Amino acid sequence: MLKVENVTKYYGDIKAVDDLSFTIEPGEIFGLLGVNGAGKTTTFRMIMGLLEPNKGSITINDKKIDYKLVEKIGFLTEERSLLTKLTVKEQVIYYGTLKGMKEKDILNKLDYWLDRFGVSDYKERKIKELSKGNQQKIQFITAIIHEPDLLVLDEPFTGLDPINVESFMSVIREFKQKGKMIIFSSHRMEHVELFCEKLVILKKGRAVLSGNLKDIKKNYQKKIIRIAGDVNIDNLKNTKGVIDVIKENLEIVVKIESDKFIENVFEVVKKSSNITKFIVEDASLNEIFLNTVGEAYEK
Ligand code: ATP
Repeated sequence: MLKVENVTKYYGDIKAVDDLSFTIEPGEIFGLLGVNGAGKTTTFRMIMGLLEPNKGSITINDKKIDYKLVEKIGFLTEERSLLTKLTVKEQVIYYGTLKGMKEKDILNKLDYWLDRFGVSDYKERKIKELSKGNQQKIQFITAIIHEPDLLVLDEPFTGLDPINVESFMSVIREFKQKGKMIIFSSHRMEHVELFCEKLVILKKGRAVLSGNLKDIKKNYQKKIIRIAGDVNIDNLKNTKGVIDVIKENLEIVVKIESDKFIENVFEVVKKSSNITKFIVEDASLNEIFLNTVGEAYEK
């Protein structure tokens, strides 16, 4: 288990991480979310043993992170640290050897992963000749080649097309099945929603929301109602408990204060015609994120 306990980190006077605590069990995918500058990369660096917290502790199975434990961590850093003059094969051998693997093993696994990501033809090519997305696949391969117990992924999906997002996700899900721990950051809430179970939202280094994604969504009071039919929008807007009404393609999306007000909306809809849909949903994680962080954020 990865345990982050009351961790605080300063850069000079800047408090980058403020009394942060969470745990990740084997087989869990954990999301670390926050706007730019919220403290995600700093947290990752401390987990990877690259920075020491000023206060608190980080342990894996009750052991403090040291160079031996770092061998059991695989990471995709935000800086995308590839040795661009090396070939793909040289780069992966270099990192695999650093993680204590034998060359034969590395090459076997490398062939498997290159094939899996559809980039076998690039094995002998220099990294700098590869497209950004393909470079990212190689960096991902270097992160997982030694089958680490803990995978730390800083913005793993940035710059990937939807097909490659899905193939990264399926590999991450397989790691989960094998009982690995995965922590990742993303600015794309729809990615987080797709496969993360537990999360923390950071704001200026502090956890402002944390827990199980399902519980967070259930406990978030505001709900969404999707309606299809000829409903008078102004009547909906003037209904008690309605925060906003948006026309979206063929649907009308109504945001309400809480599920107490579903009935009020239903009363308006009942008096309307051609109704083919009336669905109540939890708010999206994106909405919860924006509300919790309380400020505009960049993708
Ligand atoms: P992003 O999404 O933009 O990558 P982040 O959530 O990863 O942001 P961090 O990079 O951890 O955020 O930064 C947290 C805070 O610490 C910010 O205020 C940042 O300016 C500051 N910071 C980060 N690295 C340093 C450093 N080396 N020296 C001084 N301050 C730093």
